[in-house]
Amino acid sequence: MSQDCLFCRIAAGEIPSDKVFENERIFAFRDINPVAPVHILVIPKEHIESIAHVEDDHQALLGEIMTVIRDLAHEENLEKGYRVVANISTHGGQTVPHLHFHLIGGRSLQWPPG
Ligand code: AMP
Ligand code: ZN
Repeated sequence: MSQDCLFCRIAAGEIPSDKVFENERIFAFRDINPVAPVHILVIPKEHIESIAHVEDDHQALLGEIMTVIRDLAHEENLEKGYRVVANISTHGGQTVPHLHFHLIGGRSLQWPPG
């Protein structure tokens, strides 16, 4: 883990968060600045900067993250639908350089986001 990475420290429990899921590899918590009634961040505990930094041996981990997102959406009663977003680097609007998937739902969402 990276001591100067905010999300590494959240996943390690060093910085408090509103946790909704945790296993050995994955951590999920509510976004501190939600854009919708449900706004959860799902992250690998391993420090991976973004999708651009994913390696071939991360494939199982990324697949597991998708099933965690599916299960959290079900638990949050998002049967009407939801959005999953990963921002990458500067033009992608990434502000925290630790891979995270936004799970956003609970209201009707517009597309494109702008
Ligand atoms: P991104 O812009 O894709 O890098 O998203 C980073 C997200 O992290 C933003 O939606 C922030 O609101 C959220 N965030 C930043 N700090 C915290 C924190 N301490 N706890 C929960 N969410 C946070
Ligand atoms: Zn990190």
